[in-house]
Parts: sequence; C-alpha cells; structure tokens
Amino acid sequence: MSERDNPVRRFADYRWQGVELLAYKAEGEAPFQAITRQLLFQAPDLAGELRYFEIAPGGHSTLERHEHRHAVLILRGRGRCLVGDRLHALDTHDLVEVPPQTWHQFRADAGQELGFLCLVNAKRDKPVLPDAQDLKNLRSDPEIAAFIRT
Ligand code: MN
Repeated sequence: MSERDNPVRRFADYRWQGVELLAYKAEGEAPFQAITRQLLFQAPDLAGELRYFEIAPGGHSTLERHEHRHAVLILRGRGRCLVGDRLHALDTHDLVEVPPQTWHQFRADAGQELGFLCLVNAKRDKPVLPDAQDLKNLRSDPEIAAFIRT
C-alpha cells in the first residue's frame, strides 16, 4: 500500500508520517517565538481543520483575538495561557476553549515544550493584534502584564 492510500499516519516524536513541518506564521506577520505547525486534517468536505502546534521551551504564541473559536487539547508538556482576562496553568491532556473575540496567548514553561492540537473553522477571519489601548487595558492586571509577550 502506498503512503497515499494508507489511512494511518504513524506517530513518532510528535511528528506524523507524511505531514509537513511548517512555520507557525509567516515571518514578520505577527510576534511569536519558537513555534512549529503541522496541518493534520484538512479536506474540502470538512468545515474544520485540525492542526498541531508545538512551542519550544520558553516560547510563546501570538497575543491575538478573532471571531473564530479555538478548541485546544494539550498533547505535550506544560505551560500557561491567557484567555480573556485570566491566566491558567496547563498540563498535558487539558482542554482549552478560546471563545470568539477573546484575547489569548500560550506560553511553554522553561525547559518544557508545549504541544497542542487546535481545531478551527477552515474558513476563518484573520487574527487581530492588540493596539496601544488594548495593551494598556490588558496590563492593568499586574499578573497579565508580567505574562504577555508582544
Ligand atoms: Mn488564535
């Protein structure tokens, strides 16, 4: 059976057979650090896409918000996230839901990768980055001020 006909893509070391390792976002598009992306499932007859992101130790995702919802399952390691106006510690196998138009950012702990599955709509709006007033509002909470990376 050729790889193309095989419905099973084997897993090894947080890679899936035949799945390309991609950059998280285009360089310079948005602030982020040390993340890779793998597009696991995407098809014309699926309304959603399933991706795997991995943040290297100490790295972070973009601080952003958008209309589309995220459903996240932590698959590897530990870290923390901001969702709205609250910070949360994350452990392997935790589920995180990011509602529409909610500020969010994920960070890997020092010495730990943070890997997660993320389900999104295939057709989705572009993320918005915080402006100066948004950052001022977010930073009014000292814990959030210390957490966020921009
Ligand atoms: Mn997002």
